[in-house]
Amino acid sequence: MKACLLCEAILPALPTWQALIGIDEQKIICESCSKSFERADSIDKTTDLSSVTSLYAYNEAMQSYLHQFKFLQDIALAAVFKKELQTILKHQKNIVPIPVHPEKRMTRTFGQVEALLDYAKIPYLNLLEKLDQTAMGEKTRQERLRTKPLFQLKPNIQIKHETYTLIDDIYTTGTTLNHAAKVLRKAGAKHVEAVTLIRA
Ligand SMILES: [Zn+2]
Repeated sequence: MKACLLCEAILPALPTWQALIGIDEQKIICESCSKSFERADSIDKTTDLSSVTSLYAYNEAMQSYLHQFKFLQDIALAAVFKKELQTILKHQKNIVPIPVHPEKRMTRTFGQVEALLDYAKIPYLNLLEKLDQTAMGEKTRQERLRTKPLFQLKPNIQIKHETYTLIDDIYTTGTTLNHAAKVLRKAGAKHVEAVTLIRA
Protein backbone atom coordinates (compact mmCIF):
# COMPACT_ATOMS: atom_id res chain seq x y z
CA MET A 1 0.00 0.00 0.00
CA LYS A 2 1.26 3.46 -0.85
CA ALA A 3 0.70 6.52 1.30
CA CYS A 4 0.35 10.16 0.26
CA LEU A 5 3.75 11.84 0.40
CA LEU A 6 2.30 14.91 2.06
CA CYS A 7 -0.32 13.74 4.56
CA GLU A 8 0.33 10.01 4.70
CA ALA A 9 -3.25 9.05 3.90
CA ILE A 10 -3.40 5.66 2.22
CA LEU A 11 -3.72 6.03 -1.54
CA PRO A 12 -6.32 3.96 -3.33
CA ALA A 13 -4.74 1.23 -5.44
CA LEU A 14 -5.06 1.57 -9.19
CA PRO A 15 -7.55 -0.82 -10.77
CA THR A 16 -5.46 -3.70 -12.15
CA TRP A 17 -6.51 -3.19 -15.75
CA GLN A 18 -5.30 0.41 -15.71
CA ALA A 19 -2.01 -0.58 -14.17
CA LEU A 20 -1.64 -3.35 -16.76
CA ILE A 21 -2.05 -1.18 -19.80
CA GLY A 22 -0.32 1.71 -18.12
CA ILE A 23 -2.95 4.36 -18.89
CA ASP A 24 -2.60 5.99 -15.54
CA GLU A 25 0.38 6.36 -13.29
CA GLN A 26 0.16 5.59 -9.61
CA LYS A 27 -0.49 8.86 -7.80
CA ILE A 28 1.98 9.99 -5.17
CA ILE A 29 -0.22 12.45 -3.32
CA CYS A 30 -3.86 12.05 -2.35
CA GLU A 31 -6.86 13.72 -3.95
CA SER A 32 -7.39 16.12 -1.07
CA CYS A 33 -3.73 17.25 -1.02
CA SER A 34 -3.70 17.83 -4.76
CA LYS A 35 -6.86 19.89 -4.45
CA SER A 36 -5.28 22.04 -1.74
CA PHE A 37 -2.84 23.51 -4.28
CA GLU A 38 -4.29 26.51 -6.05
CA ARG A 39 -3.48 27.09 -9.70
CA ALA A 40 -2.43 30.67 -10.46
CA ASP A 41 -1.33 30.42 -14.10
CA SER A 42 -0.14 33.97 -13.87
CA ILE A 43 1.89 35.58 -16.61
CA ASP A 44 4.09 38.60 -15.99
CA LYS A 45 6.62 40.57 -18.02
CA THR A 46 9.70 42.51 -16.91
CA THR A 47 12.37 44.54 -18.71
CA ASP A 48 14.69 41.57 -18.82
CA LEU A 49 12.16 38.79 -19.22
CA SER A 50 9.75 38.50 -22.11
CA SER A 51 7.49 36.44 -19.85
CA VAL A 52 7.32 34.92 -16.40
CA THR A 53 4.79 32.13 -16.13
CA SER A 54 3.94 30.84 -12.67
CA LEU A 55 1.87 27.73 -12.11
CA TYR A 56 0.62 27.96 -8.52
CA ALA A 57 -0.38 30.46 -5.87
CA TYR A 58 1.59 30.65 -2.66
CA ASN A 59 -1.14 29.38 -0.36
CA GLU A 60 -0.86 27.43 2.87
CA ALA A 61 -0.55 24.06 1.17
CA MET A 62 2.24 25.34 -1.03
CA GLN A 63 4.06 26.86 1.93
CA SER A 64 4.13 23.60 3.76
CA TYR A 65 5.12 21.74 0.60
CA LEU A 66 8.09 24.08 0.11
CA HIS A 67 9.08 23.83 3.71
CA GLN A 68 9.08 20.06 3.59
CA PHE A 69 10.86 19.98 0.25
CA LYS A 70 13.59 22.49 1.05
CA PHE A 71 14.28 21.97 4.66
CA LEU A 72 13.47 18.36 5.32
CA GLN A 73 15.21 17.52 2.04
CA ASP A 74 12.55 15.08 1.05
CA ILE A 75 13.63 14.60 -2.53
CA ALA A 76 10.70 12.35 -3.37
CA LEU A 77 8.55 15.47 -3.15
CA ALA A 78 10.13 16.68 -6.38
CA ALA A 79 7.79 14.29 -8.14
CA VAL A 80 4.62 16.04 -6.99
CA PHE A 81 4.54 18.60 -9.83
CA LYS A 82 6.12 16.43 -12.47
CA LYS A 83 3.19 16.38 -14.91
CA GLU A 84 2.47 20.10 -14.61
CA LEU A 85 6.10 20.95 -15.36
CA GLN A 86 6.25 18.53 -18.27
CA THR A 87 3.16 20.13 -19.76
CA ILE A 88 4.30 23.72 -19.47
CA LEU A 89 7.85 23.00 -20.65
CA LYS A 90 6.89 20.67 -23.49
CA HIS A 91 7.93 23.03 -26.28
CA GLN A 92 10.79 24.84 -24.56
CA LYS A 93 14.40 24.22 -25.26
CA ASN A 94 17.43 25.79 -23.58
CA ILE A 95 16.00 25.28 -20.11
CA VAL A 96 18.20 26.82 -17.42
CA PRO A 97 17.59 26.22 -13.71
CA ILE A 98 18.47 28.99 -11.25
CA PRO A 99 21.43 27.54 -9.38
CA VAL A 100 21.67 27.26 -5.63
CA HIS A 101 24.62 28.81 -3.94
CA PRO A 102 27.47 26.30 -3.71
CA GLU A 103 27.54 26.63 0.06
CA LYS A 104 23.84 26.08 0.35
CA ARG A 105 24.11 23.09 -1.91
CA MET A 106 26.39 21.45 0.61
CA THR A 107 24.02 21.81 3.48
CA ARG A 108 20.92 21.01 1.49
CA THR A 109 22.69 18.30 -0.47
CA PHE A 110 20.61 18.97 -3.58
CA GLY A 111 19.36 21.82 -5.70
CA GLN A 112 15.60 21.84 -5.44
CA VAL A 113 15.02 23.37 -8.87
CA GLU A 114 17.20 20.76 -10.53
CA ALA A 115 15.43 18.07 -8.55
CA LEU A 116 12.07 19.23 -9.94
CA LEU A 117 13.42 18.98 -13.48
CA ASP A 118 15.21 15.68 -12.88
CA TYR A 119 12.05 14.03 -11.60
CA ALA A 120 10.09 15.29 -14.58
CA LYS A 121 12.87 14.01 -16.86
CA ILE A 122 13.16 17.45 -18.44
CA PRO A 123 16.62 18.05 -19.91
CA TYR A 124 18.30 21.27 -18.82
CA LEU A 125 21.52 23.25 -19.18
CA ASN A 126 23.61 24.24 -16.18
CA LEU A 127 24.84 27.57 -17.51
CA LEU A 128 24.87 29.84 -14.50
CA GLU A 129 26.80 29.99 -11.30
CA LYS A 130 25.95 32.11 -8.34
CA LEU A 131 28.47 34.73 -7.30
CA ASP A 132 29.55 34.97 -3.71
CA GLN A 133 27.58 37.72 -1.99
CA THR A 134 28.99 37.26 1.46
CA ALA A 135 32.22 39.26 1.27
CA MET A 136 30.79 42.55 0.18
CA GLY A 137 31.22 44.63 3.24
CA GLU A 138 28.70 46.77 4.97
CA LYS A 139 26.16 47.37 2.24
CA THR A 140 22.62 46.40 2.96
CA ARG A 141 21.11 43.44 1.20
CA GLN A 142 18.93 45.70 -0.94
CA GLU A 143 21.92 47.72 -2.08
CA ARG A 144 23.86 44.61 -2.96
CA LEU A 145 20.96 43.28 -4.99
CA ARG A 146 20.81 46.49 -6.98
CA THR A 147 24.47 46.89 -7.68
CA LYS A 148 26.24 43.54 -7.69
CA PRO A 149 25.52 40.82 -10.21
CA LEU A 150 24.17 37.66 -8.61
CA PHE A 151 25.22 35.29 -11.37
CA GLN A 152 27.80 34.74 -14.02
CA LEU A 153 28.09 32.33 -16.92
CA LYS A 154 30.05 29.20 -16.23
CA PRO A 155 33.42 29.09 -18.01
CA ASN A 156 33.42 28.21 -21.72
CA ILE A 157 29.68 28.54 -22.20
CA GLN A 158 28.49 29.64 -25.64
CA ILE A 159 25.04 31.28 -25.63
CA LYS A 160 23.09 30.95 -28.89
CA HIS A 161 20.86 33.62 -30.39
CA GLU A 162 17.82 31.68 -29.23
CA THR A 163 15.18 31.75 -26.53
CA TYR A 164 16.22 30.55 -23.08
CA THR A 165 13.83 29.58 -20.32
CA LEU A 166 14.85 30.09 -16.71
CA ILE A 167 13.30 27.87 -14.06
CA ASP A 168 12.90 28.77 -10.42
CA ASP A 169 10.73 27.47 -7.63
CA ILE A 170 9.24 30.78 -6.57
CA TYR A 171 8.74 34.20 -8.18
CA THR A 172 8.58 37.01 -5.64
CA THR A 173 10.25 40.35 -6.44
CA GLY A 174 11.82 39.05 -9.63
CA THR A 175 15.32 40.16 -8.64
CA THR A 176 16.86 36.72 -9.01
CA LEU A 177 15.24 36.00 -12.35
CA ASN A 178 16.04 39.43 -13.77
CA HIS A 179 19.68 39.14 -12.78
CA ALA A 180 19.93 35.73 -14.42
CA ALA A 181 18.12 36.96 -17.54
CA LYS A 182 20.52 39.88 -17.88
CA VAL A 183 23.51 37.55 -17.90
CA LEU A 184 22.00 35.42 -20.67
CA ARG A 185 20.93 38.40 -22.75
CA LYS A 186 24.30 40.07 -22.50
CA ALA A 187 25.87 36.85 -23.70
CA GLY A 188 23.64 36.83 -26.77
CA ALA A 189 20.34 35.15 -25.94
CA LYS A 190 17.52 36.37 -28.18
CA HIS A 191 14.80 36.20 -25.54
CA VAL A 192 14.74 35.03 -21.97
CA GLU A 193 11.54 33.66 -20.46
CA ALA A 194 10.94 32.20 -17.05
CA VAL A 195 8.72 29.51 -15.60
CA THR A 196 8.28 29.20 -11.86
CA LEU A 197 6.32 26.74 -9.81
CA ILE A 198 4.93 29.45 -7.55
CA ARG A 199 3.90 33.09 -7.71
CA ALA A 200 4.26 34.64 -4.27
ZN1 LIG B 1 -2.50 13.81 1.15
